[in-house]
Amino acid sequence: MKVLVTGGTGLVGKNLQSLVHNIKTCEFTFLSSKHLDLTNRRQTIEYLKKTDFHTVVHLAANVGGLFKNQNNQLTMFVDNIDINTNILLGSVQSSSIKRVIMILSTCIFPDEYSDNINEQLLHKGPPHSSNRGYAYAKRMGAVMADIINSIQTTTNIQLITPTNLYGIYDNFDLENSHVIPSLIRKCVDAKRNNSILTVRGTGIPLRQFLYVSDLCIIIKDTILYNIQYNHMIVAPLQEYSIKTIVYKISDIVELDHNLIRFTDKKEEDGQVRKFAKSNVFDDIFPNFKFTDIDLGLRYAIKSYQSLNRK
Ligand code: NAP
Ligand code: GDP
Repeated sequence: MKVLVTGGTGLVGKNLQSLVHNIKTCEFTFLSSKHLDLTNRRQTIEYLKKTDFHTVVHLAANVGGLFKNQNNQLTMFVDNIDINTNILLGSVQSSSIKRVIMILSTCIFPDEYSDNINEQLLHKGPPHSSNRGYAYAKRMGAVMADIINSIQTTTNIQLITPTNLYGIYDNFDLENSHVIPSLIRKCVDAKRNNSILTVRGTGIPLRQFLYVSDLCIIIKDTILYNIQYNHMIVAPLQEYSIKTIVYKISDIVELDHNLIRFTDKKEEDGQVRKFAKSNVFDDIFPNFKFTDIDLGLRYAIKSYQSLNRK
């Protein structure tokens, strides 16, 4: 079976590539924006029509942490609307594609339900104001998927919604990245220079962190065992405050806690909580063991340190 993975050069894409490289029953193709700009409708549709993929794992997106989302609302909206529309439209028009597995995010759910997110609540209210552009674009991808599933039968779209991801091959950019890679970079640099580590916000917000390989295992199993669901949230139940994560990372890199400061600016906190729990996931993967956060952080830190030695 031929499987196309969009976003093959990103955090999830690279980890998925490592996981599936010796699977013999599927032939995987990993795309980057250099191969094909998915915002280009004509080229995307042409590509999907002239190839013969059976399954598309659609990872590509314009992605970033709180500050990238907040400062680039229009671009996040337009890019993600375009990318998702073109991939879904091209998949429907292709004669070979039977299945698309598309990735959403728990950060697109209504702010009002941030204490108890589940799959049913996606459209029940506005997202947090910090990421309206990204959130509404991703939600429109879900709406389009639902329309496709309801009007025609040859292509089925499945949605997977992970929480905040981290791991090896992450984006460690200070301005645009998610919190864990940014803190890893800042901690390692502060340790090296014996300088102050300044953490944005109060450190109070809570997040569920998912080690990227866990998501990749779920994607792989969905394909290999042909697991059917419309929409499934993947969320380890344990929540951690940003402050706890800062201290965990600083302990691993042996940074003195006296060097750590918080800006204590509430406006840098984003959503205070976004707790998600999925019965769909519990039913399908009842015995799934998520990677322990201390171990996952060690792997992620090691990957940043090895990048930096080169
Ligand atoms: P990432 O590391 O930022 O990678 C994004 C990927 O998308 C890259 O391969 C990039 O290609 C590709 N891409 C971006 N714009 C493109 C375009 N115009 N045409 C073609 N390809 C394009 O993202 P990720 O963290 O792996 O995220 C994967 C999926 O998980 C996304 O759908 C994201 O919304 C979702 N998600 C991520 C997180 C998280 O914490 N990271 C959390 C929840 C959900 P280039 O390398 O060529 O630019
Ligand atoms: P979110 O989970 O979608 O909000 O995305 P992030 O991964 O960007 O996490 C944002 C949370 O981490 C907010 O509470 C921020 O205040 C906090 N945070 C602290 N330092 C940083 C940082 O350097 N980068 C990012 N992105 N967030 C940070």
